Amino acid sequence: MTGPHILVRGAGVAGMVTAVALAEHGAQVTVHDTGGRVGAGASWFAGGMLAPWCEAESAPDEVTQDSLTSLDWWKTHVPDVMQAGSLVVAPPRDTPELARFGRRTSHFETIGVERIRTLEPDLEDRFDKALFFAEEGHVDPRKALQALADRLVQNGGTLLSQHPADEALFDWIVDCTGVAARNFQSDLRGMRGEMVLLRCPEITLHRPIRMLHPRIPVYIVPRDNSVFMVGATMVESDDTRAITVRAITDLLNAAYTLHPAFAEAELLEANAGLRPAYPDNVPRVRREGNRISLNGMYRHGFLLSPARAREVCDIIFGTDRA
Ligand SMILES: Cc1cc2nc3c(=O)[nH]c(=O)nc-3n(C[C@H](O)[C@H](O)[C@H](O)COP(=O)(O)OP(=O)(O)OC[C@H]3O[C@@H](n4cnc5c(N)ncnc54)[C@H](O)[C@@H]3O)c2cc1C
Repeated sequence: MTGPHILVRGAGVAGMVTAVALAEHGAQVTVHDTGGRVGAGASWFAGGMLAPWCEAESAPDEVTQDSLTSLDWWKTHVPDVMQAGSLVVAPPRDTPELARFGRRTSHFETIGVERIRTLEPDLEDRFDKALFFAEEGHVDPRKALQALADRLVQNGGTLLSQHPADEALFDWIVDCTGVAARNFQSDLRGMRGEMVLLRCPEITLHRPIRMLHPRIPVYIVPRDNSVFMVGATMVESDDTRAITVRAITDLLNAAYTLHPAFAEAELLEANAGLRPAYPDNVPRVRREGNRISLNGMYRHGFLLSPARAREVCDIIFGTDRA
């Protein structure tokens, strides 16, 4: 007996994680994205941080709880998942921010100059104090999405560049179209996020570094080949224009504050994406007959997709094996 035929709309992180989880349950999964490729939306611009404890600074407890097994899911589904923790620092004038961040989070160690030097030799003596969240990790979103696409195909799934001729042939339709779903979900909004990619061979970092600032907290995530993702703004806006001069200036200033060698970095890319979000910024799975929607991933698409995909599997298969 073959499994149910399922159409997943949208090949961002929510759609691809869900598609793989469904295929692993034996479903016949077809994914279609109007962008014609995986990662045509917000997921392409993400930092890829899997940081439940740092995110607890501003996320409700439900988000933290649902993201605790995320790192394990990623480790068993894509290669090159880094588990080197996260480091949170603040420039000298903003050290009260570090104390505030610590009060709102847990599962970290407060470390001093010696330990910072051991963890990140290139940050030597630049910060007196840091918070080290050892249990966190990160992925390169673009590589991870491609790895999920490969895994889907290995599990018998299909990625379509054209819309399927007849949606009525599918037993289930799972909508993961991000902000585009505003067309039929009026409570969904866009939260604009801007980022840059820099290449800087003069600096080596081993883990995401979050640099606190009262107005624009910024993080720098290391990738292969001396590339660093610097992100991200949080702008309450559906504006789909290219990145603004203000955002580029803020992000580059933050990189330079973290380490002056970033002044000589090559600017590879500067971009903006729209995170889909509900009013409480908590992602939801909704069902209407044989139609399921998984949306509102906000700033937690990589962190929370495994848990929300499990909910989708639960609805379709009545089990949470994924
Ligand atoms: C700068 C930035 C940094 C971020 N950093 C992180 C991070 O470190 N960790 C983390 O967990 N999250 C992070 N996020 C958040 C994360 O990127 C989002 O939560 C996530 O990408 C949302 O995924 P999604 O699949 O719901 O939407 P999207 O990635 O936007 O995917 C939706 C897809 O649907 C397609 N589509 C639209 N309409 C249709 C249609 N009618 N039919 C078929 N396909 C359609 C689109 O082309 C698109 O590919 C970041 C976001 C930004 C912008």
